[in-house]
This record gives sequence, structure tokens and C-alpha cells, in this order.
Amino acid sequence: MKKSFTTRSLNVPFPRVDAHKALDMPVYETVAYEFDSSEDMSANFRGELPAHVYSRTSNPTVEYFEQKIKALTGAYQVLAVASGMAAISNTILSVCKSGDNIISGNHLFAHSYALLDQSLRSYGLEPRFVDTTDEQAVEKLIDENTRAIYFETVTNPQLEIADISKLSAIAKKYNLLLIADSTVTPPLIFNGRFHGIDIEVMSTTKHISGGGTSFGGLILDHGSYNWALNPNLNPLAEKFGKDTFIARLRKNYFRNTGGAMSAHTAHYQILGLDLLELRFERSYASCIKLGEFLSQHPKVCRVTYPGLKGSHDYDLAASQFNGKPGTILTFELKSEAACFTFMNHLHIIRRATNLNDNKSLIIHPWSTIFVEFSEDERRAMRIQPTALRLSVGIEAANDLIQDLELALNSLD
Ligand SMILES: *Cc1c(COP(=O)(O)O)cnc(C)c1O
Repeated sequence: MKKSFTTRSLNVPFPRVDAHKALDMPVYETVAYEFDSSEDMSANFRGELPAHVYSRTSNPTVEYFEQKIKALTGAYQVLAVASGMAAISNTILSVCKSGDNIISGNHLFAHSYALLDQSLRSYGLEPRFVDTTDEQAVEKLIDENTRAIYFETVTNPQLEIADISKLSAIAKKYNLLLIADSTVTPPLIFNGRFHGIDIEVMSTTKHISGGGTSFGGLILDHGSYNWALNPNLNPLAEKFGKDTFIARLRKNYFRNTGGAMSAHTAHYQILGLDLLELRFERSYASCIKLGEFLSQHPKVCRVTYPGLKGSHDYDLAASQFNGKPGTILTFELKSEAACFTFMNHLHIIRRATNLNDNKSLIIHPWSTIFVEFSEDERRAMRIQPTALRLSVGIEAANDLIQDLELALNSLD
């Protein structure tokens, strides 16, 4: 029988036996590593003797975090980086060049949108934003300069879900790379390898870090894409074959842009990963209870959580995410003023912007994350002045419900 996620996570062997037989992976907080001889040193630089050399390119604690993710997901290659944005930017830079275009979901994490729309556009990469739940619209945008389709498994705060099997079929038909940001649906409940996703990127700052402890990102290469099909990588593909993408990262963008994960961060991420299942299952169970409570409350106009029976996208959440589409829900009150009053009356749920902390966090997206956009733009992005986003933490569900109830009672 297949062992549980937690059992497997706790039992991934170290890449090397530790000198002191440490049971937890030590934090290798060092910049450089010594060689026994100048011959060994030269052999390493010629690529003939693998070893850690300089921690911006590889580090034993970070390597162990990567090995754990590899063992848990079956990914072909894994690279841990400094943040979710480092994972996304390194991935896109590695597969696109100026003159190319990338088809992207139109509802994205705000900085991912800005990366494509502002930073990379200025280098000649054209983002083509589209509703990825509309496969025909996606297909229409493809031309000979398209290199990839990029989307998020569950959009935030809209909580929309694209049918990944349809996106994957389009990507295969046109030999395009399919990249998913799976931050909201961590490896415990979603494995892109089984859904036709070639490259998975995620911010481990959220679910994996273990409660808002540290920034981190992951790039997972599922080994499914033929890199010779991408003209930018084709020359490398002759030499590196299946390892083309990881070689491009490790010998070019990742190394040269300096977005390495630190050993201390890797330590936090390892601890967080070992406790992911416990934390996630508890938050998920509370998410359902809170969703049901809010749905029945007369002062709440609408609740969105695709894990709730009868909700839009329930079937896709069931087939793609084992019925557990993350631990974020949104709900609407009668007015923006009611949202502010409600938030000010909470005592356990905290007013903060992160996701998947151990603490439950609430935010009014209209007046915060999206405040730089005009009202029309916000509505076009399906951001409502009456909506609140709640990231459900690991407090007891009854305590959270009581907090919500008291704050709802403060409304007239
Ligand atoms: C937070 C987040 C990111 C960015 O991650 P950082 O670790 O903050 O750089 C990217 N995508 C999604 C969906 C996120 O929620």
C-alpha cells in the first residue's frame, strides 16, 4: 500500500550520510566548499566531478529540500529558488526570448501579471492574456511565435478553475509548453505530472513554508516536454536531451540572476513540508465548515469555495484536486462599508495579506491588492467591492466560526 504523504516526507533519505548521523538535515550555512586537490577542483569545473562549489548555485540543505519534493511528486527535476516570483520569472526567461509570445491566464497573482505585462514586455516578450476557462479563446491566440501557455490552477481571489485536460490537449496539439502555477493546490492534493502539465511553478512561501516562516519557490520539470520543439532551446537539446530545461536554468538564468534559496530558508521549508498534510487537512476541514456556516448566514450574500457542494466548478475541483481546491474562500456582504466594519470586529482572524499562514487571514481585495486599478478594471477582473477573501488557518473551526458570528452580529 502506498504510504501517506507525511510518512513519505519524513523518510526521504539524505543525498549523503551526514558526518555525525544527524537525524534532521543540518543547515549548511556556508558560501563555499573545499576540494581535496587542484585536480579535483579542475575536474569539477570541467563538469566531470559533481560537488557543491558555491551556495548560490547549489547547497546541501537546499538540495535535500529539492530531493524531498522530487521523491514526493515523482518530478523529473526540481529546482528550489528564493521566492515564487523567482520560480516564475526564471521559468519564463528560460523558454522565451524577445519576439515570442506567451498565452497567459488573465486572472493571475498580481505580481505575476505585472511581471508579464510590465517587466518582460519591455524586453520584447508579448503576453497574450485570455480567460483560460475558454479553450477556444486560448486556441485562437496561438501563432508560430507562441512558446507556452501559462495559468494558475485556482485563480485568486476569483477562485476560478480551468479544465486542465483541455488546456493540455491544446498545448500538445501545437507543441507548446504547458506551465501551471500550482501555489494554491500544493503537492499533497495536486500533481501536475498526472494532468499533462510540463512545468509546475509554485510559491512555497504559502502552503509549504509552514505558516509564513520564509520565502521560497519551486520549479518542477515533469520531463514530458520535448525541448527540441522550442527554437530557443533546440541547440541545447542536442547536448542535454531531457535535461535541457534544468541545464538552461542551472547554467544560465538561475545561476546568473542570483535568486538562490538560502540554507536557513530550506530548513524552514523542510519542516513545513513535513507538516503540510496535517496543516492542510485541518484547514481544509475548517474551510468546509466555515463555508457552510457563512452560506446559511442571513447577512452573507454569497460564498465562493469550489470545494462546497453545489458550487460552480465543484466537479472540476473534485476531478483535479481531489475535491480540496485549496484553503481560501471568499464571501460577499451587502456593502463595502459592511466589509470594513466586519473586519474591524474580528479578534482571531487577522487582517493581513498572506495566504496559507497557520493563522487565518482576511483581506478586502478591492481596497488593497487591486486598489491601483480603476473601478472598471477591477470589475473586469471580477473583483467586487463587497467581497472578502479568507485564508483559513489551523485554529479550531469552532473558534473561527464564533469569531465570524460575533463580527457578523456587529452589522446592522
Ligand atoms: C504568492 C504567490 C506568488 C508569488 O510568490 P512569492 O513567494 O511571494 O514570490 C505567485 N503565485 C501565486 C498564485 C501566489 O499566491
